Amino acid sequence: MKDKPDKKILEKCIAHPLFRVISGVSSDLSVPAYVVGGYVRDCLLGRDNPSQDIDIVVLGKGIEAARETARRLKPSPRVSVFKNFGTAMFRYKDIEVDFVGARRESYRQDSRKPVVEDGTLEDDQKRRDFTINALAIALHPDEHGTFIDPFDGLEDLRKKIIRTPLDPKVTFSDDPLRMLRAIRFATQLDFRIEEETFRAIYRNRRRIRIVSMERITTELNKIMLAPRPSTGFLLLDRSGLLEEILPEIHALKGIEKRKGMAHKDVFLHTIQVLDNVAKKSDNLWLRWAALLHDIAKPATKKFVEGQGWTFHGHDFLGSKMVPRIFRRLKLPMNEKMKYVQKLVALHLRPIALTTNEVSDSAVRRLLFEAGDDIEDLMLLCEADITSKNEKKVKKHLENFRVVREKLKTIEEKDAVRNFQPPVTGEDIMQTFDIPPSRTIGILKEAIKEAILEGTIHNDRQEAYQYMIEQAKKLGLEVKKNLIKEEG
Ligand code: ATP
Ligand code: MG
Repeated sequence: MKDKPDKKILEKCIAHPLFRVISGVSSDLSVPAYVVGGYVRDCLLGRDNPSQDIDIVVLGKGIEAARETARRLKPSPRVSVFKNFGTAMFRYKDIEVDFVGARRESYRQDSRKPVVEDGTLEDDQKRRDFTINALAIALHPDEHGTFIDPFDGLEDLRKKIIRTPLDPKVTFSDDPLRMLRAIRFATQLDFRIEEETFRAIYRNRRRIRIVSMERITTELNKIMLAPRPSTGFLLLDRSGLLEEILPEIHALKGIEKRKGMAHKDVFLHTIQVLDNVAKKSDNLWLRWAALLHDIAKPATKKFVEGQGWTFHGHDFLGSKMVPRIFRRLKLPMNEKMKYVQKLVALHLRPIALTTNEVSDSAVRRLLFEAGDDIEDLMLLCEADITSKNEKKVKKHLENFRVVREKLKTIEEKDAVRNFQPPVTGEDIMQTFDIPPSRTIGILKEAIKEAILEGTIHNDRQEAYQYMIEQAKKLGLEVKKNLIKEEG
């Protein structure tokens, strides 16, 4: 006999008041309705951070059922209808509820446009991506709480297996994004992809090219946000999808050896850094910075006699590569991208501060350049230590602890982290009675430099004096009636 979840567990999965309303609608409109997909999967898994969206399949009158359900809720949510797809959705108290009419759907080999017609529940379940995402619980009062699992998804859930309900060739060629979703779910849930399914991903890897970048990036970000993203990157690599969607990361793979000297595999190092960062922070963009921190190592790699492998300037070149990669992946080109760029550019700087004779001005400069992202930068640097030698790791961590102390001391003393010029352009124009001009920029820059160098303190009086001295060199005189005021 086929395994079923405990009746009590099933009832608990549909205990939310929303389901009571949907059951009523299902009964009154005489259409069978089911909750399917991620919601059922996560409920049976008892996931800590379960899927917040609810997917409802209705056999006929899907849009009407959505409208009627929304009408019976207080307050009534606004329903968005996608007539062409036969779907409707609304948001109720942070939950997104999607209604779909059961459909039969097939895609032609040369097109992404599906042909859609009415279907049964099983038709709907068949065209879902994985067996664990094809579990359904009935909501109509006549069969309330009945578990419907035609592809043994429950068994796969217990064995932690990702498997397609149909022949994987068919499932993946209908929508190649599902290959990436397989890896995403394996990473998020810590599941294994069943062999035949995995082989089909490898064989169909090139078909990912027909999928839109936005859909790909949504899945990539979910892999990045998983507790251990490296799982996903190893699977991406083994399936051949990495080379297709992230060629720059694929280029980090491998070791070269010359005169008995080998450099480390930058790909394996990178995904370890990513895992290390993931343990400390769930900031998606810090994770992207970890993924991209060594992206320019292949392009800057050199073998230097008597020294070994070097990657000079990979921090600078890497930061230059970030916008191109973000644009291609349709990631935001705003301050998030700039943040990633900044962290890539600065990721070696704290190492330079670990030497004993580091000057205060070097510390001030880093604080100035990193600004409020200094803490994230330090997290990245600490995550960047991936040596297997525990003594070395300890030593490096201790060095960074000292750097953190220096940063703290200097910031308390000089407050340059959110540097605001103590003398403004307006001040300069008034003092010397000059119009807006390049001179103002030159003076402001000179003051900033003097503060960062430690020639003067970050203080208005000192900066004002310094401004007058520097202006004199440029042949500027203080406006007569001002001399007394500012002394
Ligand atoms: P989560 O919301 O946690 O990311 P989920 O399983 O709910 O996980 P969604 O993308 O919200 O994933 O999709 C909801 C359900 O719709 C899935 O469980 C699956 O049954 C089905 N589904 C989504 N995308 C696809 C697809 N590309 N091919 C087939 N079925 C899909
Ligand atoms: Mg979902």
